Formats: sequence, structure tokens, C-alpha cells
Amino acid sequence: MAKERIALYPGSFDPTTLGHLDIIRRGAKLVDRLVVGLAINTGKSPMFTLEERTEMLSYEVEKISKEVGTKIEVHGFQGLLMHYAEKIGAQVIFRGLRAVTDFDYEFQMVGMNARLNSEIEVAFLMASEKHQFIASRLVKEIAHLGGDIASFVPKLTLERTLVRVAEARRQAAAG
Ligand code: ADP
Repeated sequence: MAKERIALYPGSFDPTTLGHLDIIRRGAKLVDRLVVGLAINTGKSPMFTLEERTEMLSYEVEKISKEVGTKIEVHGFQGLLMHYAEKIGAQVIFRGLRAVTDFDYEFQMVGMNARLNSEIEVAFLMASEKHQFIASRLVKEIAHLGGDIASFVPKLTLERTLVRVAEARRQAAAG
């Protein structure tokens, strides 16, 4: 039997967007097993805890897994990306590319990571035209400013984000 093809798709997923799900669906079609790695150390103060992010993402991923027929798992990870990729036996890391703005950072990362482990490839995927511009950071900003984020995130994430924004408003008002 051919060796199982395993990919890692890392990110902070704070929160999950339709852009992420688009990349996951595309990536899942290319491998036997896809591990979505939730970065525990985001370096930013996240809107959602690791548990909350995991729950929202797992809910969406289960549907994609059934649809595509590929095993997809969601796990938190800490430390160096390459170490985690090695640990799970991934041969490839998927990254999503949006505009040129992502390219510069990713270009550098690939170069550095290749020095750490040249056996693991990094493959870039692009979301469909209507999902390409979506970014978690902007989704959060728009939600905090009272804008409609319904076309950027899946339903469960929308509900949870609106609850979080309302909580933040109440805290600010009380405070
Ligand atoms: P963000 O950059 O939106 O805060 P993440 O850090 O969770 O989100 O991103 C994880 C990966 O998903 C990165 O490779 C990022 O470039 C990619 N990604 C995020 N949103 C999109 C999108 N709309 N289209 C393509 N790739 C995306």
C-alpha cells in the first residue's frame, strides 16, 4: 500500500472564516489525512480561547471531511511549526495565499523552514475569488464596529462572535 499522505494546515483560526474552510476543502482533496494545527501561541491576544477555536473549527471540518472523504483532524500545537509537522509525519504544509501582502512573509518563512527540514514541502493554495480577501483580523474589527460579518464566516462562528462582541460592549459600558 502506498504511504499515507499527510498534510498540516497551521494557523490561528481566531475565528474560523470561509477563507480557511475554502483552503481546507481544497487541501483535503489532495491528501489522505489533513491535520489542522491551531497555534496555541498566537502572539496576539485572541478573541477566542484554544478550546473555543477548536470547537468551532472541528464543527465545520467534520462536514468537509464527510463531503470530501478525507480524514481531517483539529489539534492545538505549540512551538516550532516544523517540529510539529515532523511529529505528525506530515510530508507537506499547506498555507493559504491571499494578496501579495501574504507573499512577502510566506516567502521568508519557506526559506527559513527549508533550512530546518528540507524534506517537508510547503504548498500554497488560493481560495475562490469570493473568499480571497477574508481575514480573521478584519472580521473581528468589523464585528466590533457593528458591521455585518455574515458573508465572511460560517454560521456557528457568526453566532459565537456576535456573543463575544456583545460581552465586550457590556464590559466596556460597565467599565
Ligand atoms: P488570518 O491570517 O486570517 O488571521 P490564520 O493565521 O488563521 O488567519 O491563517 C491560517 C492560514 O490560512 C494562513 O496560511 C493564511 O494565509 C490562510 N488564510 C486565511 N484566510 C485566507 C483566505 N481568505 N484565503 C486564503 N488563505 C487564507
